[in-house]
Amino acid sequence: MPWSLTVGRLGETAIRIHVTFLLFLVWIWAAYYRSGGASAAWEGVLFVALLFACVLLHELGHVFAARRYGVKTPDITLWPFGGIANLERIPENPAQELVVAIAGPLVNVVIALVLLVILSATLGGADLTADSLVKIEDPRTSILVKLAGANIFLVVFNLIPAFPMDGGRVLRALLAMRMGHAKATATAASIGQGLAIGMGLLGIFTNPMLMIIGVFVFLAASGEAGQVQLKEASRGLLVSDAMITHFETLGPQSTVDDAADALIRSTQKEFPVVDGAGHLRGVLTRDAMIRAMKDQGPQTAVIEVMQADIPVVEARSKLDAALKLITSAQVPAVGVVDEAGRLVGLLTPENVGELMMLHAARPERGAHPFGRGRAG
Ligand SMILES: [Zn+2]
Repeated sequence: MPWSLTVGRLGETAIRIHVTFLLFLVWIWAAYYRSGGASAAWEGVLFVALLFACVLLHELGHVFAARRYGVKTPDITLWPFGGIANLERIPENPAQELVVAIAGPLVNVVIALVLLVILSATLGGADLTADSLVKIEDPRTSILVKLAGANIFLVVFNLIPAFPMDGGRVLRALLAMRMGHAKATATAASIGQGLAIGMGLLGIFTNPMLMIIGVFVFLAASGEAGQVQLKEASRGLLVSDAMITHFETLGPQSTVDDAADALIRSTQKEFPVVDGAGHLRGVLTRDAMIRAMKDQGPQTAVIEVMQADIPVVEARSKLDAALKLITSAQVPAVGVVDEAGRLVGLLTPENVGELMMLHAARPERGAHPFGRGRAG
């Protein structure tokens, strides 16, 4: 990821800090400096640094729990709004997902407990009531109190039962033990969205920040439900079940003008460029075509303006892996080839969308419209 610095490595996991996080520290320093001078400024930065150390430990909780189930995490990035552990996948076994999701907040529970024990020791066994904690004046002790409070907040916030919070995953895992993964996700997403609407309404009357969080949670919940639906729809299918087989192709010698003709006589938006041997050389999108027409003229060779490095998959390979390519690799299409490497089909985001609509519309849930066995 650009704009982030790798500051350490734990096994196969790189620990990264995004540049905006460093700016955030500078901003904290400046804000405290203006209100309380240099010592307050360094104290503020120290507190934020310690707080994010706790956030990092929270993410490591997820990472180490996931590692137990063979899930790798290439990196953890710290942003001003929190940490993101980039897990390769979320285990689909509900018990495993539950452990991975709860491991993060549990780390903060442990940190808060340890801090409270240290505090009660330094306070000489005095009562640890909220009242006595507020009255502490020694700055070193008060930073521990604030840190303990922040960890308790992290636990509560992360356990809100809505995606993308850990609580959403805990809820989904608990539901998935009784119903299927897809149904559990849909139910958890609905609960999360209901909660998000509640937060939004409450935010109108209390804190506008709550409204923004509500909108964010609402959108995230829909996204999670959509992704799982896509995975369910593609389960057990082959690439050849979903690919487009009727399409216009361009040759390496074709010009942008030829491409424009093909655009007009078809409904395609992505045109594969195929050489004499039938191998895919690249894909020309409608947008790239129009840009080239304007900037370089109609006689430009398509080979100069197409997107090369288009991934290809075999027609007999599994569909879900190919869909992952489309959603993660930022490509306009994926080429489908036969054993000899010749282009026989195309997968585009649009025809994947059609597959999803068919999946949603089919009468009995559980069987694929294409008649290839039952889905998980
Ligand atoms: Zn977490």
